[in-house]
Amino acid sequence: APAPPPAQHLFTDPAEVEALRGRLLAWYDECKRDLPWRTLAATEADADRRAYAVWVSEIMLQQTQVATVIDYYNRWMQKWPTLQALAQASLEEVNELWAGLGYYSRGKRLQEAARKVVSELAGQMPRTAEDLQKLLPGVGRYTAGAIASISYGQATGVVDGNVIRVLCRLRCIGADSSSPAVIDRLWDMANALVDRSRPGDFNQALMELGATVCVPKAPLCGECPVKQHCRAQRKKLFGKLTPVPDVEDCGVGGCPLCPPATEPWDSSLGVTNFPRKAAKKQPRTARTATCVLERRGCHGAPEYLIVQRPSSGLLAGLWEFPSLPLAQGLQEEKQREVLADHLRAWTGWPVVAGGLRFIGEVVHIFSHIHQTYVVYSLPLDGDVTLDPALSPSRWVTEEEFLTSAVSTAMKKVL
Ligand code: SF4
Repeated sequence: APAPPPAQHLFTDPAEVEALRGRLLAWYDECKRDLPWRTLAATEADADRRAYAVWVSEIMLQQTQVATVIDYYNRWMQKWPTLQALAQASLEEVNELWAGLGYYSRGKRLQEAARKVVSELAGQMPRTAEDLQKLLPGVGRYTAGAIASISYGQATGVVDGNVIRVLCRLRCIGADSSSPAVIDRLWDMANALVDRSRPGDFNQALMELGATVCVPKAPLCGECPVKQHCRAQRKKLFGKLTPVPDVEDCGVGGCPLCPPATEPWDSSLGVTNFPRKAAKKQPRTARTATCVLERRGCHGAPEYLIVQRPSSGLLAGLWEFPSLPLAQGLQEEKQREVLADHLRAWTGWPVVAGGLRFIGEVVHIFSHIHQTYVVYSLPLDGDVTLDPALSPSRWVTEEEFLTSAVSTAMKKVL
């Protein structure tokens, strides 16, 4: 087993832990934001319904801002107020409601998990973090801890980006906070700190502190309810950890949780020295030719042809304009030719490269791909009958397009 970290990075004093819990909970009771899933979780007597509300909100909140999620969450709960209702939804409906939230596999797995609860677990949610994580697809350690503590009162901690930031600052943890060794330590700390009588509120309070006070760039330390316990704040004010009498500043070199010796504490950064992360990998660049095929519909309004993507991989099952990934470094003329070839093979129409009108380029950043869509348009005067053996496709008006399961990138293309 690895040696325990130096005391500087731990909560070793039970009286201090009690005081920190009390201060944090009192602040949360007074200052917490009014969020729809919190209201439901607090008023709903049925623990499984509370768990469902927490679960939906937590999955939506992964990688997405609270302000964006509220509207999606409200529409979702209106349409599928229970797990049982969600289990009966089609994937197409789920994708339509999810459109714009990004990371589409999250919605898909939420629905798969709901079906699993209904068909294999007799409609009963698992009630511990361990079982939630083991039995439900798409439910990781964090989501399992959040559901179990908030809905079922299990005294288990949670570690998300906000908690990482707060704990790293409270205990001056400057080693790479995305490394498994540091993450494990943070989980140990979260599990040890969580309040035994109000675990759900405590976890939400810690996350709320990270979201509203201990924010990444300019934390509001003056208003922080736990500033007395914050060692990053002490280090900023006093240059070292004194006046904590029994804790030595372990400095750099050798300590697995201190900043690396090559990047020591930088006094101009203050508490934002923590947390630290290894440099992110650069997203790869990709180019895709996409063609907006347009015809006049029966009332003269334009209609567009959209096609469904495969059921796995990036943007699985979503609809898009006919598109073709391009090799790097292709000249514009060549791009147009390969796209014309693709459309000819696909529609059976005599599409020629010169008939495609170049419209412009649309850049969209996915988490790991810097994607450029090279956009063309092609007006058609007759109907196009597509081989049913190919991917599903359909003609839609602009309004139908906007309410279909299409990605944000495709909306930009339109
Ligand atoms: Fe974060 Fe500042 Fe509070 Fe420390 S005192 S926990 S750095 S807001």
